[in-house]
Amino acid sequence: MALVEITRKGFKCERCGHEWIPNDIKTEPTVCPSCKSPYWNKPKRKR
Ligand SMILES: [Zn+2]
Repeated sequence: MALVEITRKGFKCERCGHEWIPNDIKTEPTVCPSCKSPYWNKPKRKR
């Protein structure tokens, strides 16, 4: 048996850094399950 690394795609919240793997990867979550931010996929703006 070969040792392989299996990586699944998941989402990462840009606000709190929370990472999670949804049951359906095709459906983007509306809010971060951790901080409930609807802007979880919107990076903070740098000025
Ligand atoms: Zn979050």
